[in-house]
Formats: sequence, C-alpha cells, structure tokens
Amino acid sequence: MDCLIVGGGLIGMLCARGLAREGAKVYLIDRGAVGHEASWAGGGILSPLYPWRYDPAVTALACWSQQHYPELARQLRDETGVDPEWERSGLLILDDDESVDALRWAAKSGVVMERLSGSAVQACEAGIGLQRSSALWLPEVAQLRNPRLLRALKQSLLQYRVNILEHVRVTRLIAEKNRVTGVETTAGRTMTDKIILAAGAWSGGLVSELQQRIEPVQGQMIAFETPPGFLSRIVLNEGYYVIPRRDGLVLAGSTMEYRGFDKQISVKAYKRLQTEAWRMIPGLADHPVKHHWAGLRPGSPTGVPYIGEHPRIRGLFVNTGHFRNGVVTGLASARLLIDMIVGRESIVISEPYAILE
Ligand SMILES: Cc1cc2nc3c(=O)[nH]c(=O)nc-3n(C[C@H](O)[C@H](O)[C@H](O)COP(=O)(O)OP(=O)(O)OC[C@H]3O[C@@H](n4cnc5c(N)ncnc54)[C@H](O)[C@@H]3O)c2cc1C
Repeated sequence: MDCLIVGGGLIGMLCARGLAREGAKVYLIDRGAVGHEASWAGGGILSPLYPWRYDPAVTALACWSQQHYPELARQLRDETGVDPEWERSGLLILDDDESVDALRWAAKSGVVMERLSGSAVQACEAGIGLQRSSALWLPEVAQLRNPRLLRALKQSLLQYRVNILEHVRVTRLIAEKNRVTGVETTAGRTMTDKIILAAGAWSGGLVSELQQRIEPVQGQMIAFETPPGFLSRIVLNEGYYVIPRRDGLVLAGSTMEYRGFDKQISVKAYKRLQTEAWRMIPGLADHPVKHHWAGLRPGSPTGVPYIGEHPRIRGLFVNTGHFRNGVVTGLASARLLIDMIVGRESIVISEPYAILE
C-alpha cells in the first residue's frame, strides 16, 4: 500500500508513523520544514481546557490518546534518544463556577476530578496568588513538550523509511472519475491512489468542502525562564494557563484571534499573557520572558475534527480541524483514520467525524 500525506504537522506525522508500522510505503510532503506550525506552537496539554464543555466526540478521542501517549513517548525515546517529556503535571482549574457540571461530566467520562478547598489549593501549588475558596483538580492530566515530540517523531519516521519531502507545497489534488490519482506540487506531479490531507489550518485550500469549515485561529504564547521546580502544576484561570516544563521554562498561553493567516506577534498579546500569568503565579514577575511566538490553529465549527474518507472522492482521506486540541486528540485521530484505511474495527465510532456533503 502506498500513501501520500499532505502536511507534516503532528497529525500528518502520527498518521505517517502509524501507516509505516502497518507496512505501508509512506510519502510525507510539507510546504515548510515538518513540525514547525501549530503543532510546534502549542502548549502540549493533554486535556482540553474545561473538558466538560466539549462534544463527546472530542472526549472520546482525548480519553483514548491520554491512555496511549505514555507508551508512544517511551517508544520514541527508545527509538530516537529524544525524550518528548511526557509528564503528569496535573491540571488545577481556579475558576470553578461550573463545578457541578464538571464533576458530573468527570464521573460519566471516567476522568479523575476533585474539588479542592482554598487551603488544599495552596498545598497543591504553593505559588498561586489568586485567593479562591475552591478549585478543580485533575491529577491525571499530563503534558508533552511539543518541539521535542516533533523532533523525535521526525527521527522515528526516518527510521521507518518514510519519504519526507520538505519545502514542497501541494498546489492541487488530482481526481479522475471520483477517485484521487495524485497531487500537483511545486516540485512536479506525484501519482498515488491514497492521499491523506493533514494540512492543518491550510486544509480548506485543497478540498472545497473544507473551505468554509476550517479557518486559521491565531494563538500567541510566551515563556518565562525560571529555575527547575519553580512551578509544578498546569494552572488554568479564565481561559489563560501556565505550563511548567522540566527545565524550568514556564509557558503562558494563549490568545485566540481570528485574523486570517497572520502569525505576527503583538505587544498587546504579550502584555495580556504576562498579566494573566502574573495574576495566577505572582512569583513569575521576578523572572524574564525568554520567548514569544504565535501559531495558527486549524479552527473548525465545533472543535470536532474531520476524520475519514471524502464522501465523493475515493482514496482521499482527511484528518484535520482539531482546533485547540490537536495534541490531546491527535494520537487517537491518527489511529482512527488508519483503522478506516486498513479496514479494521475502529477504536471509537467514526460517524461524528465524517465530512458532510
Ligand atoms: C498557541 C497554541 C496552543 C495550543 N495548545 C494546545 C494544547 O495545549 N493541547 C492541544 O491538544 N492542542 C493545543 N493546540 C492545538 C494544536 O497545536 C493543533 O490542533 C495541532 O497542532 C494541529 O496539528 P496539524 O498537524 O493539523 O497542524 P499543523 O501543525 O499546523 O501542521 C499542518 C502542516 O501542513 C503543512 N501544509 C499546509 N498546507 C500545505 C500544502 N499545501 N502542501 C504541503 N504542506 C502543507 C504546514 O506547513 C504544516 O506543517 C494549540 C495551538 C496553538 C496555536
């Protein structure tokens, strides 16, 4: 089986690795260097923020991925020597006005969630500055360090003999009699009868049905340089969060802006992210901001990704539209698509992810 994947973000790379492990000959094409767009820019939290607000189809993918990421991280570290830094930091949610709904959702979904009193919140993360009478605590939420995950994945793909073509843009998908036959690229034509579209925020430019459904949503983040152990939990408040990395870097995210394919960073966003991070963890004010960046999320109407074969073009599969949750849902969504391609029973029911006509 030959497969050509358009887009080497996390989704395309996870599909490539999964298919190569099934014995397929895989070509992965990216218009830039693989793993340098949204997947690189993200925070790597392995849970949706306020997970109870999401469609059950997102929860289903998130739960499967959460169970299987530790094994992937172990495999990648063993295969490549690059550690993606899977870390169970836990998620502390300081604004818990929706705690009744949240706890009900957690009980139904099998997610461990507790309501902590004010003193327990301080015991959970000593640096918290906001006085809260209670908070929600999800001790099993983990994180991955995106750039390292992507670096490890690229090396793993090379070991699985995936053909990676970088700095080549796919300009058009070619179909005859409702079946894909190949792609046109800036480096010429490539013929194939199986294509996976995983072009993130750019996916709408290649498949007309996705044009109105996938749009870029800019997210900016900053990172503080602190000593290792300065912060130990992922902390979330009113949509803003901080994430502690093992070496002391503390990421603070993230903004949400609909401004087309614009990755420009702004002083306004920087100040907002800094202020919100300082509010949560006042001690951050003593540490410098080392990085500031932006990425384009592949926004979709409800945040449920499109996964599956195109309804009219045989051989064309899509895996896109993961919006704010492409890391936590990505592993499951790659596996689901591969289940469909190889024709085995799927890990979750596939209907909620179908592209509509
Ligand atoms: C600031 C921020 C914070 C985030 N935090 C989290 C988080 O904590 N947890 C979480 O789960 N998710 C998070 N996300 C969301 C997550 O990062 C995305 O949902 C996910 O990375 C999407 O992956 P992708 O592979 O579809 O897209 P991308 O990583 O953008 O990859 C798409 C690739 O396709 C290539 N491409 C596009 N068009 C073409 C073409 N025509 N030809 C060839 N190649 C093409 C691009 O160059 C790119 O490499 C965050 C996102 C941002 C921006």
